[in-house]
Amino acid sequence: MERPNAWKTYDEAALAAVENTSRNYKAFLDAGKTERECALTAIDMAKAAGYIDLKDAIKAGKPLNPGDKVYVNCMDKAVMLFLLGQHPLDEGINIVGAHTDSPRIDLKQNPFYEDTDFAYADTHYYGGIKKYQWVARALALHGVVCKKDGTKVNIVIGEDPDDPVVGVSDLLIHLAAEQMGKKASEVITGEGLDIILCGQPLKDEEKEPVKATLLKILKEKYDIEEEDLLSAEIEAVPAGKARDFGLDRSMIMGYGHDDRVCAYAALEAILSITEAPAYTCCCLFADKEEIGSVGATGMQAHYFENAMAEMIALTGNYSDLRLRRALASSRMLSCDVSAGYDPLYAAAFEKKNAAMLGRGVCYNKFTGSRGKSGSNDANPEYLARLRKIMDDNNVCWQTAELGKVDVGGGGTIAYICALYGMEVVDSGVAVLSMHAPEEIISKADLYEAVKAYRAFMVEAGK
Ligand code: MN
Ligand code: MN
Repeated sequence: MERPNAWKTYDEAALAAVENTSRNYKAFLDAGKTERECALTAIDMAKAAGYIDLKDAIKAGKPLNPGDKVYVNCMDKAVMLFLLGQHPLDEGINIVGAHTDSPRIDLKQNPFYEDTDFAYADTHYYGGIKKYQWVARALALHGVVCKKDGTKVNIVIGEDPDDPVVGVSDLLIHLAAEQMGKKASEVITGEGLDIILCGQPLKDEEKEPVKATLLKILKEKYDIEEEDLLSAEIEAVPAGKARDFGLDRSMIMGYGHDDRVCAYAALEAILSITEAPAYTCCCLFADKEEIGSVGATGMQAHYFENAMAEMIALTGNYSDLRLRRALASSRMLSCDVSAGYDPLYAAAFEKKNAAMLGRGVCYNKFTGSRGKSGSNDANPEYLARLRKIMDDNNVCWQTAELGKVDVGGGGTIAYICALYGMEVVDSGVAVLSMHAPEEIISKADLYEAVKAYRAFMVEAGK
């Protein structure tokens, strides 16, 4: 049951469409290196396509009708777009959900210190990283500093070619005999991921003169004091843009494919639908997936359910029963990246159940670890309906499992949405070097994901 390679199915027009989607996706990645930047980029794109803020609709008491477009901004970090369909909401909606937080290094709340003529930022990493991959490379700083007077300062340092970059140093090989003998998980420690920010002392400053230079720059450029860092979120991420990968330009290398590739595909899919679909469609960007979908912007929070309740209220008679019916009868693709089969690490995969780069969008009936622990394990009845939608729409797709049994595993937001009783299956794009500072995907898989998510939004539930 080997699945065909998508590239072999493309004519000239399809190749041009693959390139077009890839170009737009790279721009999305470059604009969105944090969950906040992704959320605000998506909202800008939604507004340009005629979406209005659900809050404004509620305030105006605007009745919602088929074809209406609304978005929900959850604390600038999670976002939902809804395109109202012809069937009532209590017949369920078609949800394509992904996450936009990616592994990274966060600054601590009290980050700055000086040691031997360097000013450093102390950090606490976010999500699952191989720490040794984050040293000796150019990092950029992205985030917000929130001041007591209520103002918010946006920070992006290291992306403009004229910007400086920052980073974590590593020990030269000539002195590293002891380090090289350590386990890879211990070569670089969590507390060892301190970022060099400055190296020049401020003249006439006696105490911590390099840190004084840092504070002077922060004051002059951003009007922030050291204390303002107590209420800030600054993320250190790989500096630079996403790029074509491979001499044939068939792939894209960049930071944060997990899971912005699925998020972008869902966004492009919903924005491409201009007429009222049969059932309401939803594109959902969740935050905090990499740390367990916790917090007010993680999938475990109630923003999705609350938005559904508000929309039912604006389409007619709200009742708790109608809300429960809407949630339970919905259909969802829980979109997250899958581990792409890597010939250099073949031992980690069971080849005929591995996701292959270039063979289209993946469907993972289950994820989880050991005996499918933490998995959603989708219903075969639902998978059969999706097979039909995919095949009817000439989508190139494959099935996949995350590595060999008992080698490892992982979870997604699928099991959380399944709690409502809706049909959910994991779907996504295959990634090489997942969770590394720069990951690799195939352009064909991105393109097939857009096709798949559009077909699902238009046809699921029919
Ligand atoms: Mn993910
Ligand atoms: Mn991940």
